[in-house]
Amino acid sequence: MGNKNVADIRRLLLAAYDAGKRSLPWREETDPYRIWVSEVMLQQTRVETVIPYYERWLERFPDIEALAEAQDDDVLRAWQGLGYYSRARRLHQGARIVKERYSGTLPRNSEGLRELPGVGQYTAGAVASIAFGEAVPALDGNVKRVFSRLFDLVDPTPADLQGLGQDLVDRERPGDFNQALMELGALTCLPRTPRCEECPLETQCLALARGTVGERPSTRPRKTIPEKDVDVLVASAEDGKGGFHFLLRKRPDKGLLAGMWEFPDVGLFPEEELGMDPTDPEPLPMPAVSHTFSHLKVRYRPRLLRGKLTATDLTPPTTTLHATRWVPLGGLDRLPLPVAQQKIAREAMRLLGV
Ligand code: SF4
Repeated sequence: MGNKNVADIRRLLLAAYDAGKRSLPWREETDPYRIWVSEVMLQQTRVETVIPYYERWLERFPDIEALAEAQDDDVLRAWQGLGYYSRARRLHQGARIVKERYSGTLPRNSEGLRELPGVGQYTAGAVASIAFGEAVPALDGNVKRVFSRLFDLVDPTPADLQGLGQDLVDRERPGDFNQALMELGALTCLPRTPRCEECPLETQCLALARGTVGERPSTRPRKTIPEKDVDVLVASAEDGKGGFHFLLRKRPDKGLLAGMWEFPDVGLFPEEELGMDPTDPEPLPMPAVSHTFSHLKVRYRPRLLRGKLTATDLTPPTTTLHATRWVPLGGLDRLPLPVAQQKIAREAMRLLGV
């Protein structure tokens, strides 16, 4: 890549960005915390989905201090529906570290930012370039695709791509340049149908010149995701005063959906330990709910058990149930429930007529 190409790519890309960039709530933002939040939310989620979450999040946790002091459940609850919940937990841990170790101020370069949980090369590059003007690249999946076409690369290593990004990033406007590249990948250099005729880099693109756009990036066969069935017990009980309660369990602090709440697996404990008198001889089968995680597809098969509460302190008594709690209907809104569990709860309430 010659100096002229580099200069042309920077100029063309920034001119197109200035002329037609999307107006997004985090654009023109200078507060590093807000940029950090937007970048973490955008990691695996589409822009349109992120916008309302981003705005609500900042109302709830307007600065690092507010996030650092928040309760785990409140943080997960604000993230509820965005998926990949480890991002929320790491952001929360990161805010606590920034508060304790850095007196509430984010480290001002990519190297320092990478010390924070959940901040990898991409996020560090994006925050450092946008918030602090550091000339470092920020390569998301879209930008990697643009590079493999722009430079007609067959099988680039992450180090190759990072090196190209470092050479290319505009020294004066690194944040805008990185956002311009991401925008190009998201809107123009699309995976299946790139819009080369509208592309500001049309004259620079090697794959276009060589007729190899359709082969870049070279595709590897998709891995099939394993599937798993989970039998779920939706235990619901009246408390004798007209109130309804659901039995919910908090997931462990590590692993999939850590710290979120859910209806427990049927096999987790014996029915006689629930603290309720069932009114049905057998739990009622409910429609299955499927959810695909990044590495696993789960089909939840819920069954509804109705009854009356016998427990007085609403804490099931055995150690197997230590993370399990009877939650009144009105309390469901205050607990972080994954999307599939919300669907199960809604269907159960419909069947119960509550
Ligand atoms: S010319 Fe086409 S393939 Fe090349 S960068 Fe632009 S959109 Fe992508």
